[in-house]
Amino acid sequence: MSKVSHVDSWYAASAGPLPVYPALQDNLEVDVCIVGAGITGLSSAIHLAEQGYRVAVVEQHCVGWGASGRSGGQMIFGFATEQPQLVKLVGLDEAKKIWACGLEGLDLLRQRIARYGIDCDLVQGHIHAAIKARQARELHAWQDDLETVYDYRTLRFLEGAEMRAAVASERYIAGLHDSNSGHLHPLKYTLGLARAATSLGVRIFERSPVIAIDNAAPVVAKTPGGRIRATFMVLAGNAHLRNLAPAIERKIMPVGTYIAATEPLGEARCRALLGDNAAVADINFVLDYFRCSADHRLLFGGRVSYSTLAPRRLAASMRTRMLRVFPQLREVQMQYVWGGFVAITMNRAPHFGRLGQNVYFAHGFSGHGIAASGLAGKLMAEAIGGCAEKFDVFARLAHRDFPGGRALRTPALVLATTWYRLRDILP
Ligand SMILES: Cc1cc2nc3c(=O)[nH]c(=O)nc-3n(C[C@H](O)[C@H](O)[C@H](O)COP(=O)(O)OP(=O)(O)OC[C@H]3O[C@@H](n4cnc5c(N)ncnc54)[C@H](O)[C@@H]3O)c2cc1C
Repeated sequence: MSKVSHVDSWYAASAGPLPVYPALQDNLEVDVCIVGAGITGLSSAIHLAEQGYRVAVVEQHCVGWGASGRSGGQMIFGFATEQPQLVKLVGLDEAKKIWACGLEGLDLLRQRIARYGIDCDLVQGHIHAAIKARQARELHAWQDDLETVYDYRTLRFLEGAEMRAAVASERYIAGLHDSNSGHLHPLKYTLGLARAATSLGVRIFERSPVIAIDNAAPVVAKTPGGRIRATFMVLAGNAHLRNLAPAIERKIMPVGTYIAATEPLGEARCRALLGDNAAVADINFVLDYFRCSADHRLLFGGRVSYSTLAPRRLAASMRTRMLRVFPQLREVQMQYVWGGFVAITMNRAPHFGRLGQNVYFAHGFSGHGIAASGLAGKLMAEAIGGCAEKFDVFARLAHRDFPGGRALRTPALVLATTWYRLRDILP
C-alpha cells in the first residue's frame, strides 16, 4: 500500500505510528457518506456510528492531513466571531444559543478524549493577551460581557506580576485567562477520533479524492477507485473542497497561516516562559499564538498569507516574530516550520447548511475550529437523525459570497482586512 504523507511538522514527527487506511476500490452502500477526515468529518462519523448508522469517511489524502492535523492546538471558547458581533447579526436570544453550543463543543472534546482514551497531551488553560492599553480595555469589556450576559465564570483578568508570571514577555500588559479552554496535540487528537470511529464500525478510506457528487436521493460520491451511494452525505472538506460544491465554496476564502517549533528547551525553560503551561494568543487581527509542547518546545504560530504559495524565508520570519515576544530565546533554533489553510468566511462565523435535502455541510471556522468543528460534526449528525434544532441555529446565520469569484476573492479579502491590520499597529 503506498504511503500517504502529512505535512512535515512537529506533529507528524511526534504523533507515533501513523495508521494507513485503504483507498476506496469498489462500490459501496452506506447510510451516510462523509467527505473529509478532519475533526468535522470524524466527529460526525462518531456520533452517527454511536446511533447505529453505517458510515463511510472518504479522505483525499490521509486522516488529519488538513487543518485538523496542523493547527495551533489551541482549544478556545466561542467562535471567531465574538458574541457582541453575533448579537448584531442574529439578536441576543440566538447569540445565547450559539454561545451554549460553543461550550458544548469544549465539553464534547473532553468527553470524547475520556470516553475513547485519546492520548493527545490535553492541558487546561488559555490566555488572550493584550499588547496595548486599548486591548486591555477590550479584554475587560469582553470579560464583563461574558460574565454578565452569558454567566461564564471561568475567566480571570491577569496584569502586572501575575501576567508576567504567566507569560514572561514584556510585550504583553494584560491577559484574560480561561481555565475552561486549553491546548492539545491536534494530530494525535484527530488520529484518536479516527480510531474511535473505526472501533464503532466506521469505514475510513484514504487517498480517495471525491471528484464528483450527486446530491439527489440517494446521494452519490464518486472517487477514481469507486463510488459510494448513501442516504445522506456530510461535506467536511473545509478549505480543501476545490470545486466539489462551488455554491458553498464561494462563502469561504482559504488563508494560509504558519507555525514553527523550536528545538527542545527543557521543562524548566518552558515553565520560565509560560508559568502555568497555558496556551497564549494575542488579540491582534494578524495574531501571534504560542504554547509549549509536551516535549518542551515552544510552538509559535502567526502570519497569514493570501497566496497558495508558502511565503519565502518562512522559518526566519517566524523566528523574528517569536523573538519580538521572547527575546530571551535568541540562540534558540527552529526545528520545524509548516503551514496550513484556514477557511475564512466574510463575517468569520462558521457556515453550516444543506445542499438539497440530504447533503449537510459545515466549514468556515475562520481559524477557530478545534472545538467548533467537533461540535459541527455532532450537529450535522443530529440533524441527519431528525433533530436539527441546534444545527439550524447556525444554518440561519446569513453568509455573503466573497465577491468576484475565485480570481478576485484574494484582493477583496486583502482590502476588507486592511483596516483591521492597520488597527494592529495603531495605539
Ligand atoms: C495552521 C493552522 C493553525 C490553526 N490553529 C488553530 C487553533 O490554534 N485553534 C483553533 O481553534 N483552530 C485552529 N485552526 C483551525 C482548525 O484547525 C480548523 O478550523 C479545523 O481543524 C477544521 O477542521 P475540518 O475537519 O473542518 O477541516 P480539515 O481539518 O481541513 O479537514 C478537511 C479534510 O477534507 C479533505 N477533503 C477536502 N476535499 C475533499 C475531497 N473532495 N475528497 C476527499 N477529501 C477531501 C481534506 O483533505 C482534509 O483532510 C488552525 C488551522 C490552521 C491551518
